[in-house]
Amino acid sequence: MNDYISTRDAHQSVSSKQAILNGMSPDGGLYVLPTLDQIHLDLSLICTMSYKENAVYILSHLLTDYTKEELEACVENAYANSFSKQEITPIKKVDDVYVLELFHGPTCAFKDVALTLLPQLMSCALKSTSQKALILTATSGDTGKAALSGFCDVENIGINVFYPYKKVSAIQYRQMVTQKGKNVNVFGIQGNFDDAQSQVKRLFLDEELNEYCAKQNILLTSANSINVGRLVPQIVYYFDSYKQLVLQGDIQLGDKVSFSVPTGNFGDVLAGYYAYLMGLPVEKFYVASNANRVLTDFLTTGIYDRNRDFILTISPSMDILISSNLERLLYYASNKDTQKVSKWMQELNEKGRYQIDDET
Ligand SMILES: *Cc1c(COP(=O)(O)O)cnc(C)c1O
Repeated sequence: MNDYISTRDAHQSVSSKQAILNGMSPDGGLYVLPTLDQIHLDLSLICTMSYKENAVYILSHLLTDYTKEELEACVENAYANSFSKQEITPIKKVDDVYVLELFHGPTCAFKDVALTLLPQLMSCALKSTSQKALILTATSGDTGKAALSGFCDVENIGINVFYPYKKVSAIQYRQMVTQKGKNVNVFGIQGNFDDAQSQVKRLFLDEELNEYCAKQNILLTSANSINVGRLVPQIVYYFDSYKQLVLQGDIQLGDKVSFSVPTGNFGDVLAGYYAYLMGLPVEKFYVASNANRVLTDFLTTGIYDRNRDFILTISPSMDILISSNLERLLYYASNKDTQKVSKWMQELNEKGRYQIDDET
């Protein structure tokens, strides 16, 4: 079941377990499922199920080489005791909008929803190999703590987190450096988040390092949202929030809703777009950014240009000029044209800028 391909080359295909173990494709691209837009989930069924049941139902369409029993065990281990609300992600009405509460996990970051499940998925995939995994993760603050907590003392997996020194909040700093666990390490780097992310991506592709690790049967992989296993758990709460609105009588089954999503690396909002491709009735996604408005400019002009000042704001998790998962949106928006995506990403690497064609 080699159904995942690289955004930059349709011939590089792997299974979902392998995609989760690899983190990113060896050609520098991200793994995508070409048949994702042919999946049509049963909304009325979703409205009858719990969060955990919906997670198993939705993930079984995306991670096809995991058995139902494996997915059930992963979901149970991830969500049974670590969230303080039984609904996992409850929705609350505030004036005339609804707020999806994604902060009831162990570190209070929305990233907990995915980072409690990813270690389970990875552990399960490792069982069919004799390998161990070493996670390398760049963080602007929230990912680091949530990943350290999620992977703490998970068997056969170690984790190294890299954060921009003195550029995370005091709370995030303390959360990270006080993390317990015999398999966890935290490093402050000179530079900003983009520097950390670029260097981590470079390490994944470094032949010498990969050879050294391979000799010791260690696989290098990622816990950032470039990893499929980090991305797909987030699709669940888009469907589950829709369910809650239907059950509360606030909308009728089939009504369209809109989502406004604070965006950095484009993982969260992309998960929403995936939900839309899989049949969720969506009117619009609002891609919210801060002063680092590279995505706002891109979505209004078709020109992606990272040649600008990196502005430090009070929302450091959104201080990103290289928004990795946009590459996956480009894949679907360009009608799955891996050659086009590959060319734009090369331009981004070399000139820091690309312009998409009118059609896309
Ligand atoms: C990670 C994070 C974001 C950005 O999410 P992406 O999935 O990277 O777009 C925004 N806000 C907060 C608080 C975050 O932790």
